[in-house]
Amino acid sequence: MIDLAGKASLVTGGGRGIGREIALKLAEAGADVAICDIEPESAQQTAADIEKHGRKSLALKADVSNAGDVSTMFSSFLDAFGKMDVLVNNAGITRDGLIMRMKDADWDSVLAINLKSAFLCCREAARPMMKARGGKIINIASVVGLMGNAGQANYAASKAGLIGLTKTLARELATRAINVNAVAPGFIQTAMTDKLSPQAKESLSARIPMQKLGLPDDVANAVLFLASSLSDYVTGQVLAVDGGLVM
Ligand code: NAP
Repeated sequence: MIDLAGKASLVTGGGRGIGREIALKLAEAGADVAICDIEPESAQQTAADIEKHGRKSLALKADVSNAGDVSTMFSSFLDAFGKMDVLVNNAGITRDGLIMRMKDADWDSVLAINLKSAFLCCREAARPMMKARGGKIINIASVVGLMGNAGQANYAASKAGLIGLTKTLARELATRAINVNAVAPGFIQTAMTDKLSPQAKESLSARIPMQKLGLPDDVANAVLFLASSLSDYVTGQVLAVDGGLVM
């Protein structure tokens, strides 16, 4: 049984999809969980559901690619929770297109929201975690960052960058007992993959050894492990949750 009682956690992009599932799973294990989202309504809904588990929660409105928003978000978080034990960098977007047609704005927004956001949040989290001599940082990457994917140059580059950031911070922070790991989901049933045509989903499933898409719960279980003391000797790793797609 994983016990996160009293752990102060922050999940970015926790209003829906995988982030919401992670936030609820951490709360079920006893953690107090703040959610940030660009849409305050969805963050507030997740926060209300966390409070139903009897945990403390907080809905924060922030664009995680904006340094000012991130700084304000961390101040509010630390004012309310007093410490930071777990940070999950989950917020992410796709703006797909083949390279010759990819617009600068699509490259820039994906790199900013998927990668710069994690840099900004890790920079803020490092100070309270170093002071406390402990913490867990979990970055939600993607198998696409490991293997590439036609039509996703921006997304694959952002997720590969996130893996490089994870390994570097794992080395920088290891002596302070701060674990930094990445989870690389394969294809998971959320709004992000709902955009795919039934044919695309079928051909994807055929490439997965387990022959099905994963669920947000599958990703949340991996995050729960990495947020817990069960993973205290695990750092700088990329845990694929992908039905065997990449091995
Ligand atoms: P999703 O359903 O689209 O949810 C993404 C969440 O991030 C939403 O709550 C969204 O808020 C929030 N967000 C977007 N931009 C933001 C910003 N600038 N600031 C703060 N929050 C922002 O996506 P998902 O499928 O759950 O994906 C979650 C993570 O898993 C992403 O990093 C994604 O790349 C990764 N992933 C997903 C899959 C998959 O198959 N689904 C596979 C591999 C990796 P709004 O509701 O306001 O838009």
